Parts: sequence; C-alpha cells; structure tokens
Amino acid sequence: MVRRIVNLISFFNLAIFLSCASFSVLAAPISQDSPGEARDYFGKFSRPSKQPSSPIGGYSFGCLAGGQVLPESGPTWQAMRLSRNRNWGHPVLLDYLVKLSEKAAELRGWKGLYIGDLAQPRGGQMVSGHASHQTGLDVDIWMLPASNLNLTRTERENISSISLRKSRGAYVNDSWTKEHHKLLRSAASDPRVERIFVFPGAKVKMCKDEKGNRDWLRKIRPWYGHHYHFHVRLKCPNDATECENQHPPPLGDGCSEAEKWVKNILNPPKRDPNAPKPKPKPPLTLKRIPEQCIAVLNAPDVNSN
Ligand SMILES: [Zn+2]
Repeated sequence: MVRRIVNLISFFNLAIFLSCASFSVLAAPISQDSPGEARDYFGKFSRPSKQPSSPIGGYSFGCLAGGQVLPESGPTWQAMRLSRNRNWGHPVLLDYLVKLSEKAAELRGWKGLYIGDLAQPRGGQMVSGHASHQTGLDVDIWMLPASNLNLTRTERENISSISLRKSRGAYVNDSWTKEHHKLLRSAASDPRVERIFVFPGAKVKMCKDEKGNRDWLRKIRPWYGHHYHFHVRLKCPNDATECENQHPPPLGDGCSEAEKWVKNILNPPKRDPNAPKPKPKPPLTLKRIPEQCIAVLNAPDVNSN
C-alpha cells in the first residue's frame, strides 16, 4: 500500500514536471536523470540553442547545437509542411540542399526540390515520425517534381508527394522517370553523403539503367518505405568532434543485395512460428543520449540576449 502511494506520488511529480515543462520551457535545469523520453524535451523547443552549430551523437540518439534554418523558399526549393517546424539543420546540410536543388532545376519538368523534414530546431528525437533525423544531417526529399515554387503555406500542408513504387516496392511504377535517376545520382555523388535510403525497386532499376560510372550506387541503400521521398544522410563534418559516424556502406555497388530485397518482397520467407518475438526498443531516455545534448536542452534560445 505504502509502495502504491509512493508510486502515485512519483507519478504526480512526473505529471507536474512535464506540464510545467511545457509552459515555461523548462525553468529547472534538465539532467540526464530527468524523467520521460528525449522527445518530451526536444519536441518543445521552437528555437535553436545559442551555440556554435554542431551535430552531437548519432543519427538516432543525438541532437543539434546551434541549428540553422533552411529558408522556407528559395530560388530552387520550397520547404514543405512548415507547421512541423522541422526545416532546421547543420549548415553543411543546408549548403548541400541548396546545391542539389540547383542541379534539380536543370532537370526536365523540375524547377527545383520540394524538401520534407530535416530536424527540429535543437534536433533530437521527434514526437512523431522518424527514429533518425536527430543531428541535423538527415533530410527527406520529395519524389514529386517541384513544378511550382510559389506554393502557399496552406498548399504546402495539403499537397502530397507521389509514390513511385509498384508491387510493395519490388518495382518502380509509371511515375518513375529518367529525371529521378539523374537526381538520385547527383544526390549520391556529393562526397559529403554517407548514404541515401530508397525503396528496393528503385535501386534495382537504377542498377539496371546506369551505363556509366557506378560508384555512386554504393551510397544508395534499399530500405522500407521511402517511395514518396528519398532520405539523404550526410557524414559527420570533419570538425564535428562529438558527432558519431555510422559504418560506411559495404564496398561495391550493392546491386545484388538490392535484388535480394526484391526477391524477399515477391516471395517473403516463411516465418518460424517458434522464433522469439523481437524485443521492443527501449525508450530513448536522456540517459541514452550524449551529455552534450543536455547542454543543448539547457542553452538559451538563439534570439535571447
Ligand atoms: Zn527520413
């Protein structure tokens, strides 16, 4: 009984803490022992931290100090779904996007790029959607050709990208064009790119169609989803000492691996009914992200004095 009361009290403490946190943007300093999940904290900031720009930690367990905003519109891009406030990133990612959008504008039928989620103002785990996109080095780019760069805010909330997949991602559909191939080739050819995620049918299609240099195909990795957009992940910039790179993709163009994915989509391997259930991922608490990210949470807003 006493234990129940203690539990009840700590539940109320947590509830009071979280509700205060949402109103006063966290008057008490946050520590690695603060309760709840990383998303409960990072999701509350509408402004970046007043710090030099730096990605900290890993793509799925980190944060972004001194986030920079991708302007909502530029000569060759528009950021989509502005209400999410996820058009923040490291300056290297913003530079990458500006340059890629200029290349996209040279493609037939494209005036540039429609750009989906980058990161939250302070990066970190998001309230909904992605596991990664935490360090300001990941971005989703729409498959829909950007044919109109004068979309209003409301239009950017409401229009949808297009899916390019057929047969659950084993093949591309009729909306796939040579321009998509060229765009993904440009996207992967920038040496700052770590890898790009796209559905398996698209990778196999590009493997078949590429008649020139195939080095860039190594960076294109088959993955679940990713048929309305492709996901570009940049390497840690050289001076980002707190940023954790992931293992580089295996050597080679990765085309046979993509073909295996396709085979498994068309003929899914039978599941062993006795196989142990995969364990659910433990919650991402503040203990599990680098200490420097706690400093990002406690830092003042960039526009404060
Ligand atoms: Zn993504």
